Amino acid sequence: MAGKMALPRIKPLVAGNWKMNGLRTSRREIVALGRKLARQPARCDVLICPPATLLAGFKDDARAAGVALGAQDCHAQVSGAHTGDLSAAMLKDAGAKYVITGHSERRTDHGETDAMVKAKAEAAHAAGLIAIICVGETQSQRDAGETLKVITGQIAGSLPEDVTAKTTVIAYEPVWAIGTGRTPTPEDVAEVHAAIRARLEKQVGPEGAKMRILYGGSVKPANAGELMAIPHVNGALVGGASLKADDFYAIIAAYA
Ligand code: PEP
Repeated sequence: MAGKMALPRIKPLVAGNWKMNGLRTSRREIVALGRKLARQPARCDVLICPPATLLAGFKDDARAAGVALGAQDCHAQVSGAHTGDLSAAMLKDAGAKYVITGHSERRTDHGETDAMVKAKAEAAHAAGLIAIICVGETQSQRDAGETLKVITGQIAGSLPEDVTAKTTVIAYEPVWAIGTGRTPTPEDVAEVHAAIRARLEKQVGPEGAKMRILYGGSVKPANAGELMAIPHVNGALVGGASLKADDFYAIIAAYA
């Protein structure tokens, strides 16, 4: 009898992107999150990407809390005359295990192209960091029916050739859903995540079946359960709701 094919078991990742928010005093949120995780451990990996200034200072608290740290961007070069930029090795040295590359705010604010995102992901891998490569369509691209074409093109252009499930995570973040309180319907999320999975398997091979695909864009405690239950959604990339331990833990609890 033909049945539903089982999806491969992938350990989810719930990642918080603090963007340009947080001071040294914000360590209390990591400590509070650690207390919650100690009481009710999560069945997912937990990551916080604070501003790079906080990585080294958060290292001990994050380790105690069972939370990994990540950066929000890196330069593609190892070193050199790039005022204000940080290399992947510097971020690793400061305590990062992951780095976000190609977030839509960087693609928009800093004109980052797929080729630049790919070079940054390569630099992250060379330094031993896991790259979280972000893709997502704008409202006008969605309205024009171009969502899957845009996402496929971004994956084709932004992924290094040798990605594996251990080195790379994909985050699908519709640009119009970031920070707006709007989310796609579960059907729309399911369609895009299935298309990303198919594209990864075609582009990367069998390893593509194991890679984590996160959903990001206005994930909140109230919608996390529904979004995280969608096939091929292997966790979340959370902006605003990751800043407070209570809210972030309530999202993580979708996997408790
Ligand atoms: C983000 O910027 O990665 C994000 C998902 O933001 P928010 O959750 O605030 O929409």
